[in-house]
Amino acid sequence: MSERELYCDSCQGVQQFETPPCDDGHGADCPELVCTRCGGAVLIATFTFGAPRLGRARRQPAAPRRRAA
Ligand SMILES: [Zn+2]
Ligand SMILES: [Zn+2]
Repeated sequence: MSERELYCDSCQGVQQFETPPCDDGHGADCPELVCTRCGGAVLIATFTFGAPRLGRARRQPAAPRRRAA
């Protein structure tokens, strides 16, 4: 079980975080960490899972509007 020190919002300070038992099959790569002091969980977003999640934001091409003459 890996531990690391991170800033905890609840504790308002740097605390030791440890990887909780993971049921999602992440194993050692589980992005979730639990504060060993308050038990609050944080998700480390720096992990990348395969393809990056692309938003559904559609960009509409800037269509120039023509004014009817
Ligand atoms: Zn996990
Ligand atoms: Zn905490």
